[in-house]
Amino acid sequence: MLYKPYGRTGKDVSVIGFGGMRFDNPQDIDANAEIVLHAHSKGINYFDTAPLYCADKSEEIMGAALKQLKRDEFYVSTKSNKAAGSLLRAELERSLQRLNVDYIDFYHIWCIVRPEAWGERLEGGAVDAALKAKDEGLIKHLAVSSHLQGDQIREILAEGTLEGVTLGYSAINFPYRQAAIDAAGEMGLGVITMNPLGGGLIPNNAETFDFIRGEADESVVAAALRFNISRAPVTSALVGFTTTDHIDQACAAVENFEPYGPGHIAPVQERIVEAFDGLCTGCGYCMPCPEGIPVPKFMDSYNQMLLSGGKTGPLMVRMRWHWEISGDQAGVCTRCGACVERCTQHLNICDRLEEIDGIYAAELEKDKQQAETKQD
Ligand code: SF4
Ligand code: SF4
Repeated sequence: MLYKPYGRTGKDVSVIGFGGMRFDNPQDIDANAEIVLHAHSKGINYFDTAPLYCADKSEEIMGAALKQLKRDEFYVSTKSNKAAGSLLRAELERSLQRLNVDYIDFYHIWCIVRPEAWGERLEGGAVDAALKAKDEGLIKHLAVSSHLQGDQIREILAEGTLEGVTLGYSAINFPYRQAAIDAAGEMGLGVITMNPLGGGLIPNNAETFDFIRGEADESVVAAALRFNISRAPVTSALVGFTTTDHIDQACAAVENFEPYGPGHIAPVQERIVEAFDGLCTGCGYCMPCPEGIPVPKFMDSYNQMLLSGGKTGPLMVRMRWHWEISGDQAGVCTRCGACVERCTQHLNICDRLEEIDGIYAAELEKDKQQAETKQD
């Protein structure tokens, strides 16, 4: 296993981290704890979890595993999405208890998905409460976890309160987040990436993404992981493991790995942009929209439908659970054309928004009819 320094914290973190958001059958605490321990035996030392993950069982699973290890053999990361300081404190205390630890190594101000959300955490006292807990030794390092656009995350990092950032970053959406990765590198902060496999899109569309493989990459999964951790500022890529086989494959992908140089990354990046004809790359150049429509979030959700062969389910899941946007917002587009003019991929954004609005309305109608059938 390779290890990289997490910013200036003095901690060396495995380049593959354990993302505790995908445990199968989370009620089976012991079986899943064994998977966590297997990861540790392979050299993984960064374990990421959160309240609510996996039917709210992820922290318990991690705790059951971590209590079997010496405290200096791992780093644990968890999060709070509360704006009020008192609520963050209560959540932190519960996390400490569930994880069976006296302190959290990396604690995250979590779910910054709207630009206003960071201000709400400051005003509500969550950030101050976390800093106080850090003074008390209950948190070692404070970070932020965000799905915002790269330049918006960069503004948060520039405030100087945080020691690291966790953000989604993959061969699909790198243009959307690159500004944050670069800024974190310049500021000497740790960077943990989520969804390095594009939320499953890369392995599920292996042929489409085959061109990202370098000579030494035996699979597109290995290439996607290496694409991620080759970026100098990226400390570790989180993978949501469900089996020990997945762990072995990911660890093999970084065995004796030499980071890709610019000679590999630059042409791959160009090819990604070319190959994604019809796909949104998340670059964000289409913004702002005068109607306040978060165009990149809708277009990213539309990607999920395209890559799944036209299924509406992945589109709806992405909107609801990843971006927390409502499909009817797509319907307020006035077709002014400003975003279309700026779109680097020349996507017909207006037609796609109209389609999303229609799909959303149809799904709502379906839900309503199902509810009525149940009542009958
Ligand atoms: S075309 Fe629609 S989505 Fe694009 S900027 Fe105009 S109102 Fe916003
Ligand atoms: S819609 Fe176009 S400009 Fe906007 S993020 Fe996607 S690719 Fe970039």
